[in-house]
This record gives sequence, C-alpha cells and structure tokens, in this order.
Amino acid sequence: MNATVTSLIYLVVSVLFILGLKGMTHPKTAVRGNLYGALAMLIAVVVTLLGRGFDFTLIGVGLAIGAAIGGAMAVTIQMTAMPQLVALFNGFGGLASVLVAGAVLATGDSRYSGMDSMMATAASGLIGAVTFTGSLVAFGKLQELKFIRDLRFSGQQLLNIVLFVGSLAAGWLMLQQPESGGLWYTVMVLAASLLGIGLVISIGGADMPVVIALLNSYSGLAAAATGFVLSNMVLIISGSLVGASGLILTRIMCVAMNRSLPAVLFGTLQQSGPAADADEVYQNVKSTSAEEVAMLLEVAERVAIIPGYGMAVAQAQHAVRDLTSHLGQLNVEVVFGIHPVAGRMPGHMNVLLAEADIEYERLLEMDDINRMMDRIDVAIVLGANDVVNPVARTDPGSPIAGMPIIDVDKARTVVVIKRSLSPGFAGIPNPLFAAENSLMLFGDGRQAVVDILKALQEA
Ligand code: NDP
Repeated sequence: MNATVTSLIYLVVSVLFILGLKGMTHPKTAVRGNLYGALAMLIAVVVTLLGRGFDFTLIGVGLAIGAAIGGAMAVTIQMTAMPQLVALFNGFGGLASVLVAGAVLATGDSRYSGMDSMMATAASGLIGAVTFTGSLVAFGKLQELKFIRDLRFSGQQLLNIVLFVGSLAAGWLMLQQPESGGLWYTVMVLAASLLGIGLVISIGGADMPVVIALLNSYSGLAAAATGFVLSNMVLIISGSLVGASGLILTRIMCVAMNRSLPAVLFGTLQQSGPAADADEVYQNVKSTSAEEVAMLLEVAERVAIIPGYGMAVAQAQHAVRDLTSHLGQLNVEVVFGIHPVAGRMPGHMNVLLAEADIEYERLLEMDDINRMMDRIDVAIVLGANDVVNPVARTDPGSPIAGMPIIDVDKARTVVVIKRSLSPGFAGIPNPLFAAENSLMLFGDGRQAVVDILKALQEA
C-alpha cells in the first residue's frame, strides 16, 4: 500500500483512538468509545499487515493460538477476577514490547542499528520488562496470594535503586558496544525485570490503585518506544495515548488516595504502626436483621448506598437495582456514594451499577455524597470496608492514613452488610462497625439485599 495512503489511514485511526478515549470518560458514551477504540485497532492491524511482506502463515498461527487462549480466558473468567486479568493482560503488553524490540535487535538489520533506533530498543526493553514483572506482582496482590503480600525485606529500596542504575548502565553499554548489543540487552531486561518485582512488592495495600494505573501507563510508553524501533507511526501514537491517559489516571488515583507519587513509589508511608487489636475494636458491635433494616428504610427520607468490593464478589448489583426501584415507589430518595478506589480497579463500581441499569444521575462522587451525609437517614455500606474506614482520618500510622473516605459515620444510621468482621484489602480493623450509630447485617451482599427487599414487600 502507498506510504501516503497508509499515513492518512493511520491519521484516521489516531483520531478514532482519541474519540474512543473521550467516549470512555463518561458512562453514557463508554460503549461507543470502546467500539471506536476496537475499530481503530482493527484498521491499524489490517493496514500494517497490508503494508509489508509478512509471513502470513506464522502470523495466522500466532493469531489463532493467542485468540484461543485470550477468548477462553475472557469467557471463563469470574467477574470478580476481572481486575487480575486486566493486570495480566497489561503485563503481556510489556512483554510484547521486550520481545519485539529484542527480536529486531537480534536481526542485526542495519536499518535498525542507528543510535535513535538503539535508544528506542533500550527504552522498549527496560520499560517493557518493568511493566511485565510489575504487572505479574500486581496480579498476585489482587489475587491476594499470601506469599506475595508478605514478600518484603529490609534494604529493598536500596536494591531497587541498584537495579535501576544497573539496568540504565546495561542500556548505556548496549548503545556504546553495539557488537555486544544482544548481551547487554539481555542483562538490562533481567535487571529491569527484577526492578519491576522490587518496585511493586514494596507498595502498601491501599496504594495499589495508583500502581495499577502507573503500570498501565508504562505499558503504553513501552509500546510507543517499540513504535520508534519499528518506525511505526500508529504504534507511537497509540502507545503515547495509553501512556498519557495512564499518567492522568495515576494522578487522579493519587489525588483520590491523598498521596504523592514519590510517597507511593518509595514507600514513605510504609512505616505503619501495629494495627489495632480487632477484638478490642469490635467490642460493641451490634448486629441486625433484614426485617429491622426494612423498618428503618420504610421511614427514611433519604438513603445512601456505598458499594465496595464485596458488592462485586456477591454480584449484588441487580438486587440493589430492585431495592432502589422499590424504595423509589415508597418515595424514599436513593443515592449512591462512589469512592474512586472502591473495588479492585478504577471505575469498578460504576461498571457494575451501569450493568444493572442504575441511573447515572444517582451516582455521586465522594465529595458530593460527603457534603450531604448529615442529611442521610440510612447509609447502607454494601461490601465496602477500607473506603469507609474512619481510621484513615484518625490514625497517622495506618496504611490508609490520609486517604479521603466516604464519611458514612456522619449519617443518622449506618447499616454495614458483609459476611463477617474480616478486614478489607488494607488488612486493618474498621471501628465504623462498632460505632454508636452502626448496625451490622451479616451475610452475603446479594442475599442480604434480597432479604431486605422481601421484608419491605411483605411489610
Ligand atoms: P475492601 O477490600 O476494603 O473490603 C471489601 C469487603 O467486602 C471485605 O471486608 C469483605 O468482608 C466484604 N465482602 C467480600 N465478599 C462479600 C460478599 N459476598 N458479600 C458481602 N460482603 C463481602 O473494599 P473497598 O471497596 O472498601 O476498598 C477497596 C480496597 O481495594 C482499597 O483498599 C483499595 O486501595 C484497594 N484496591 C483498589 C483498587 C482499585 O483500583 N479500585 C486496585 C487495587 C486495590 P467479609 O469477608 O467479611 O464479607
């Protein structure tokens, strides 16, 4: 295909990518945004393949194997394991950059041996390797694999610095000694792979959302660098878009967690004191029943529902929609308070509530719901824990210290629905459960909401 035509099509593809990203900034336009992105990707792949003399048999076999594995994973994956899957796929993007840049280097083709191309190869290998192993560790943390959560040792930050300097030095030697380029590339990728592990294992529980957004950005930057290696415009543009949007998301997550990026990355908030003794914190817990909650709701004027990761586990969103419409019939106003890091991936709660067709107008961001919390009669905390833990405000030694929370404790009555008194992702007790105005409704989130609705209907 003529180079000018290819460039023009790449331009259209880039515009589609941008429209796709714009669409995904709002739930109403998100599906359309996704379609634009998928269409752009399809056109980019087809046009790229038409442009050069590829071995289509090999590509076909690769596509078939990849599509079979990816398709099987996407179909069989539990909805609750989606965040882990996204982390894994993100890591594979990084690995692809390492392999493509390495393969180009291995060909020894003089078209790719200029200084600019070699620098792009080094960047691709370094960022790609950090993304790959970092994402694997993120996968393990989201999967709550105990050995990964506990993997820490003193001097870790120092080792990270040594690995960072070591991988930069290997990259520099790769540029200086092109005849041993393959060797130095391998050393650099190994050091960067260890660095990826070291960087992410040291991140504290509640800071994971920031890291996930950052790894997302890295995978884009690695792809953009690979675009420079291959002189492929559309890969440079799409990689840069992913890199930039990932950085914006990282900033949003930092603001949501009230953290600075260096504090997250270099663990200045890791020196948390010992967690409070759960038995002591939970001395005055009061439990309630679905019937009692139904009675509270019947006489309420305004109800707030604060969903968390447990709503995703229980797949309670459809039951919540039914409860919301029934309360609407009783003239009870229902709003939802969405914490930016509730769940296990950015936008997790919005996606679930949208899936259940809950009107977007009901979904309030953290600051908006907090402003009206003293006018809420009943706040229902559905499978949320860390995002409503008042310890964030009171204990500077806690792993979630300083993180803005949804102030449900300021509502007239708080009903917390969860199965037990176990902690959330950050692993610390939550004094909200024993607060004067709190009632615990123990049980699976979906079943509890179904029971409350039944009790309301029978009343
Ligand atoms: P948490 O992880 O703090 O708490 C979830 C609670 O849900 C648990 O205490 C659990 O209690 C309960 N639960 C689990 N299953 C069920 C069920 N079937 N029915 C009812 N309850 C259930 O969740 P939050 O959403 O409050 O906070 C998110 C945490 O995840 C934060 O610490 C955040 O930093 C972290 N994180 C967020 C990411 C993001 O991008 N959003 C990414 C990575 C981490 P029990 O077992 O007693 O039922």
